[in-house]
Amino acid sequence: MERGTSYFGVRDPRHAEHDLDRFGDEGLDAVLHTFSERDQRYYQETMADLVAASHDRGQRVYVNPWGVGRVFGGEALSEFIGRNPDSRQRLSTGDRVPAACFNDPKFRGFMREWTRDAVDLGADVIFWDEPHWYVPGWDADPLPEGAWTCRCDACRERYEAEYDEAMPATETDRVVEFQEASLFDFLEEMMALVREEGAENAVCLLPGDSSEHGLTDWERLAASDHIDVFSTDPYWAAFDEEMESFVDEYTDRVVSLADEYDLESQIWIQGFALPDDPETPKKVERATEIAVEGGVDSVFMWGWDACRVISSIGTTDHDAVWNAYLDALPDE
Ligand SMILES: [Zn+2]
Repeated sequence: MERGTSYFGVRDPRHAEHDLDRFGDEGLDAVLHTFSERDQRYYQETMADLVAASHDRGQRVYVNPWGVGRVFGGEALSEFIGRNPDSRQRLSTGDRVPAACFNDPKFRGFMREWTRDAVDLGADVIFWDEPHWYVPGWDADPLPEGAWTCRCDACRERYEAEYDEAMPATETDRVVEFQEASLFDFLEEMMALVREEGAENAVCLLPGDSSEHGLTDWERLAASDHIDVFSTDPYWAAFDEEMESFVDEYTDRVVSLADEYDLESQIWIQGFALPDDPETPKKVERATEIAVEGGVDSVFMWGWDACRVISSIGTTDHDAVWNAYLDALPDE
């Protein structure tokens, strides 16, 4: 079973190598290196050095579009939406929101460049991390009642071409179906490109069945010709769920889908924004055990040292949380 962590916040290879050595000593054999818009713009060669340093240590390397366009997970900002305000998603009320639209041609072009650059770093796997339409609650933006995304020109044109009718202003079932199909189509295009460029694809879906949270039809994604690793992140504290049943349910779901479609299964363990509670490390340990016992091929923690270096989502007892994760991993 693969054992990994995400890694971010350090762009000095000398410092990073020290951390990567430690991950190896701690029994990890895979690392996800975040590749934000900033990294793409300013740190490409540095990032390639970090990826090579991981390979030198026998680690399988995942790379993700950290916060790119603000439509993937991650604590990173987007310059793309600042430079291309017309490529942002548009609410049904007409206002723009700070997230790029999956159907916008400029964003698609930008993402194709990002994808080529990400594979060029030497990545083994491109990790499509929580692709989602704009989620109002996440940024605490007050929105008009009933407003939804996206109703930009690109979406309206595609919708009309698909259904031979104007896109309605209310979020009908057909609109929801269109959102799902658009996101799926976007992923298919990017995953095909990854394969062409010589790497593999992992897709990490947010748990739950809300269309704004990403794809609801997991089976359709699992049946894609381009996916290699099916992943989800049942972050119980983030979603305010009961840990055991939540992690268990989603472990079962990815393991059975992966078995059915001959994919690798992966579960992410919450290592950020955990409650300041003496029970927290025990829960992390138990969550990891549930994933391992459930038969996943790969388990990761988000993120390294329980996000010690991101104060906004850090966890008070980060060392105990990190060690709880490591302790629950099986020996090689
Ligand atoms: Zn749109």
